[in-house]
Amino acid sequence: MTIKFRLGVIRLKALINIDYTYDFVADKGRLTCGEPGQRIENYIVSLTEEFIEREDFVVFAIDVHDEEDPYHPETKLFPPHNIRFTAGRDLFGNLQNVYNRNKERENVLWMDKTRYSAFAGTDLDIKLRERGITELHLVGVCTDICVLHTAVDAYNKGYKIVIHKAGVASFNAGGHDWALAHFEHTLGADVV
Ligand code: ZN
Repeated sequence: MTIKFRLGVIRLKALINIDYTYDFVADKGRLTCGEPGQRIENYIVSLTEEFIEREDFVVFAIDVHDEEDPYHPETKLFPPHNIRFTAGRDLFGNLQNVYNRNKERENVLWMDKTRYSAFAGTDLDIKLRERGITELHLVGVCTDICVLHTAVDAYNKGYKIVIHKAGVASFNAGGHDWALAHFEHTLGADVV
């Protein structure tokens, strides 16, 4: 006779906070989502505080560029944004205060990225794996660019993905809706 134990799967979680910066969100940001981006501030702030307090891992994966970088594909595609050492890279609104208050904590990490995906050219995958994290919660902007590319890489690397609908936004309403459907139906994400 065999006895089968059913073990519940315990997933360690991380929140990946993507590009919620002045340049991407503020009215005068250099590549702004504008109002749709500004509307998600409170949600992102409270979710981030919740993850930090619960001792879950929180990563701020934030675009960095050098002005007129001739080797970077985005130089031709977008106006300059999130330029190194500029205030355009500050987190938007209250999220910067949340980061400032908690940045010394062991479960809070700032991670510069230079491509859409937070996994491209960074050690994000290693940081997550060494902590045993298997479930990624994504918030930030833009839904159909950096959040999308991060989610695709997370899918290919085998992570469980949770997208917070009230915590993502884009300047492109059609792209936002398309990406939400793609997360759910193609990447198997929970869109909550
Ligand atoms: Zn960029």
